[in-house]
Amino acid sequence: MKDIVFATGNAGKMREIRAILADLPVRVLSMAEAGIRTDIVEDGATFEENAVIKVKALRPFTDAVILADDSGLVVDALGGEPGVYSARYLGEDTPYSVKNAEIIRRVNESGLPRTARFTAVIAALLPDGTVLTTEGHMEGEIAREPAGANGFGYDPILWLPDYGCTSAELPPDEKNAISHRGKALRAMKTLLQERYFA
Ligand code: IMP
Repeated sequence: MKDIVFATGNAGKMREIRAILADLPVRVLSMAEAGIRTDIVEDGATFEENAVIKVKALRPFTDAVILADDSGLVVDALGGEPGVYSARYLGEDTPYSVKNAEIIRRVNESGLPRTARFTAVIAALLPDGTVLTTEGHMEGEIAREPAGANGFGYDPILWLPDYGCTSAELPPDEKNAISHRGKALRAMKTLLQERYFA
């Protein structure tokens, strides 16, 4: 059986990717399970650059297929912010209640359309050096006020018009089924089936 190493230490992401790749003949390992300990500097200007930086950073440690993701909230009225700075916006340790209130305030102040989306890019590095990337989106609008207790991060302020609620008000299974990361992961699964498991 082939191994895939996912460049994350996040248990939620590991659960999601294992569920999506369940019918492929692979064992999906986290960095820790693969015995890899390294700090990766994510200094790319785009989600794609960051995801590719992560997969390449792990190449010295394993010959397996390496996967990594990078994601964030893109707000049109703020010129795409917080974007690749989503985790660091207003400071890494600043509570999301503060970050979310500030984004709502800035969007209100702008008077511009409230459209926004979560974006995720998945990168794969194959043993022969090929790099594959896929992208997924979850479209919405910046809510007038935060709502919901599910999820994490910016979920309480992404209003989903099709569902009549915020991302944080969706049950976790429902969110995973329509999320940016789920879409990008399923697209990557298709690419891997065509390019690696064929
Ligand atoms: P990372 O790609 O896991 O490092 O995520 C980057 C940041 O984007 C997170 O820390 C959150 O601030 C934000 N983010 C990404 N995906 C989501 C989501 O599904 N819900 C809420 N926030 C998200």
